[in-house]
Amino acid sequence: MIVLVVNAGSSTLKCQLIQTDGKVRLMKALAERVGHPDAVMEAAFAPGFEPRAVEVAGCDVPACLDRLLDLLESDPASPIASLADIQAIGNRIVAGGEHFSESTLIDEGAFAALVQCEELAPLHNPAADACIRLLRHRLPDTPQAAVFDTAFHTSMPAKAYMYPLPQRYYQQYGIRRYGAHGTSHRYAAQQAANLLGRPLADLGLITCHLGNGGSITAVNHGESIDTTMGFTPLEGLMMGTRSGSIDPAIVTYIMRRDGIGFDEMDRILNKESGILGVSGLSADMRDVLAAADAGDADAALAVDMYVYKVQKAIGSFYAAMTRTDAVVMTAGIGENSAELRERIFAGLAHMGMILDLEKNDVTGQIGVNRVISIDDSPIKICVVTTDEEMRIARETDALVGGEAEAAR
Ligand code: ADP
Repeated sequence: MIVLVVNAGSSTLKCQLIQTDGKVRLMKALAERVGHPDAVMEAAFAPGFEPRAVEVAGCDVPACLDRLLDLLESDPASPIASLADIQAIGNRIVAGGEHFSESTLIDEGAFAALVQCEELAPLHNPAADACIRLLRHRLPDTPQAAVFDTAFHTSMPAKAYMYPLPQRYYQQYGIRRYGAHGTSHRYAAQQAANLLGRPLADLGLITCHLGNGGSITAVNHGESIDTTMGFTPLEGLMMGTRSGSIDPAIVTYIMRRDGIGFDEMDRILNKESGILGVSGLSADMRDVLAAADAGDADAALAVDMYVYKVQKAIGSFYAAMTRTDAVVMTAGIGENSAELRERIFAGLAHMGMILDLEKNDVTGQIGVNRVISIDDSPIKICVVTTDEEMRIARETDALVGGEAEAAR
């Protein structure tokens, strides 16, 4: 099945066209700084993936998608002859609230519920909904699915998802922990079970999605029972540009001291903090590791803090579960940085997570799912390659294929 995967943010749009049968990528496109004067969009087609610029000046996110569809229709190198070749659309939705505990086909009822979830992720969900509307207009006969970042975490118990605030904020505003990266945590847990040769339902796992954004989840018997991200993806670990958890009183203190408003404070916490804020250099872990190696003290501090926060989160979820069989590392940093894995697990050997330094080495191993702990480590350590777009395409295929099957 040919699936168009659409991942819309407040000022970004990522799309891929995926042939799910052979897990083949046919097109990748990325628009950034949408709505700003320097907005850019690039699309690339298989097999060469030569980037080509798409003109998106003055476009909002759905208008960028509209331009991309025009390109797919008109470009001689397009991997499809017409838009009718797109058999399904998979939309990544950041917040599904308490409405959605699994991926769903988007009918009228589901779309109305999606619109209600917009206030939970005001930067992301409205853009995704606007893209769904546009696609309904341009591809009215193509089924659309919604795949949620939050769905995997709806199994959390109340003691994990409630905040110690007056209950009226939960009742009136839906303020609770929703978590994120659910598709990735679910996939990492299943892949780890495959690697260990045991049913997921028998295992206690701690899955670590360490990318630009980062979150850690306690997966007990296949279900998320707690996760570090919260009401929004700002809570939890230190991230590329996000602060993660800090004393909430710091927020009002800085606002008063600097006389800044909500939007500015929001920007500082989401865009200027984390690895970028502490290193003063970059949000990209590779740059910061290189600078730390070259003797930059702020970069070294950023790396130290990052490692320490990951260690503490793993430790807290070890305590939250009744058993821990494995820790699973995934996403850009988790998959690719042998150095950071070595530093993280150097501090966790006393809990029974013992890294095998040779297996941890990445040479020739990028993209290979594998166990990297020593053979008799009481708790295993696994590395799993995540691929959110492919997951969304395959979930969409299963939903649309299942529906077609049921209609036969
Ligand atoms: P996103 O959350 O945007 O999908 P990724 O999962 O691609 O992000 O992760 C991006 C992060 O992974 C960046 O901080 C990048 O520096 C880091 N990263 C990728 N490869 C390596 C590596 N070999 N060593 C250290 N960090 C890496």
